[in-house]
Order: sequence, then structure tokens, then C-alpha cells
Amino acid sequence: MPNLDPGWVWLAGAGPGDPGLLTLLTLHALNQADSVIYDALVGEDILKLARPDAELLYAGKRGGKPSPKQHDISHRLIALARDGKRVLRLKGGDPFVFGRGGEEALALVEAGIDFRIVPGVSAGIGGLAYAGIPLTHRDTNSAVTFVTGHNASGVVPDSVDWRAVAKGSDALVVYMPLKHIARISEMLVAAGREASEPAALVSKATMPDQQIVVSTLADIAADAAAAGLEPPAMFVVGQVVRLRAGLDWLGALSGTRLTPDPMGNRRLDDSA
Ligand code: SAH
Repeated sequence: MPNLDPGWVWLAGAGPGDPGLLTLLTLHALNQADSVIYDALVGEDILKLARPDAELLYAGKRGGKPSPKQHDISHRLIALARDGKRVLRLKGGDPFVFGRGGEEALALVEAGIDFRIVPGVSAGIGGLAYAGIPLTHRDTNSAVTFVTGHNASGVVPDSVDWRAVAKGSDALVVYMPLKHIARISEMLVAAGREASEPAALVSKATMPDQQIVVSTLADIAADAAAAGLEPPAMFVVGQVVRLRAGLDWLGALSGTRLTPDPMGNRRLDDSA
């Protein structure tokens, strides 16, 4: 395992929440770092794994105040590294998936700071696994699209061609969907997706208070509001959502009955 050396910055993913989903490299960095600069999505359970004398620095939004400017965070990383600190920049999920990891790494390059990228389990993959929803399945889809529902200015991103997204793959996985869930669902239906298509929201995935709403494109916004669903959440659209009835392994641990054949294929019988 490589060491996090003084003057270096490791830009690492902490996974979606469950500390068990940390990579060995991220855990190793937590054991070594002098300074840990972490985002809002990194929970207490994970920060507890830092060296007891490590300096923990919060870089997220707090108490309704605006988040620190990206520029300021990058400068802080550079200053700590130049100070000879072993710096761990810890982000939720994977640092290179809707996490601005690329921007921070480029700032380090410009400043001539040594760094390593440590991938993490992204919410759009590991989070959905904890909801019993596979991203691909032979009976449903061989492509999946990851897209953001929210950009820096807080509007449904104009940079996304939602018509193309609607047509691109059966399975769609939307990060930061909650604020604009009604509009996003409407746009997908307007672009040709069936209003009756299965859709799910997975809130606080992999955490003890994980909550899931399974619905259709037509009803998901109202159902999520009725359930009082809170961020962070992932939005999944497509036939893969139906598989949850058979694959909700987490629910099964607390007694939910699983459906052996959620797609109605009777494959076991066929092959008998
Ligand atoms: N880099 C992160 C994504 C950061 S963007 C990753 O790879 O997962 C923030 C968004 O990620 C949230 O708005 C939400 O859509 C999603 N997200 C992160 N953690 C989550 C969790 N535990 N449950 C549900 N969604 C999560």
C-alpha cells in the first residue's frame, strides 16, 4: 500500500455512507493524514476512523451559509501541502463523479503539488445496490446513463440534453434529483418515456435511515413529497427498478418477502 507522504494530497472517495464501503486505500489515508478536509456527505462514522490527533476541516455548506468557494478549498489544500502536511481531501462517493475532484486535482497540478486519486463507491452504483436495484440486467438493459439534475446555479441543467438522455438508454440514474424531480420526470415523459415507467428514489442510501420510494414517472414527484423524502437521494428510471421486488436484500434482513421472479420470466421453470 503506498503511503500518504508529507506534502502530498490524496483526493479520495468515502463511498455513499456505510463505512464498510470505504476502500482500503482511503482507510489507509485516514490512518495517516495530518489534515482531513471533508465534504458534507462524509459522515461521522467515517471521520471517526481518522487519526485521533488529525485536524478535521469541514469544506461543505453549513447552517444555510453558502459553501466555501471551490477556489478557496483548492487554495487551502495547496497551503496545507506546502506546509508539509499529509493531506486527505475526502469526498462522498467517488471524487471524479459529480464531485469536482477534477477541478481540485487540476489546481494541484498547476501548483506543482504531488497527489493521488483514490476512487470510491459512487452513490449511483453502490447506493442503488443497497436498494436492491442492479444497474444492468440481461432482461432489461445493456446501457445506463448517469446524469445530474442540478447544476452550480441550482437549475435543472441546461447543459443536459434531456431528449437525448430519454432516448439514450433504458436505465437512467440521476444525481441531485430532488429539487427538480417533478420537472425532470415531466421532461422525460415529454421526450417519449412512458408515464407508467417504473421509477424510484433512494434517499440516504447505505445509511441506517435509507428510505426508498418506488413509483412511476407520472407519480414519483408526488409520492416522494408525500413520503417526505430527504436529500441526498438518487433517482432511477427504467425496468431495472422492478428487480428490486426480488433483490431487496436489505429489506429481507428485516423480514420483507422477496419475489423470486420479479420480471415474470419463470426462467427457473423454463430451464427445468
Ligand atoms: N461524488 C458523489 C456524488 C456527489 S453529488 C458520488 O460519487 O456519489 C451529490 C449527490 O450524490 C447527491 O445529491 C445525491 O444525488 C448523491 N448521493 C451521494 N450520497 C448519497 C447517498 N448516500 N444516498 C443517495 N444519494 C447520494
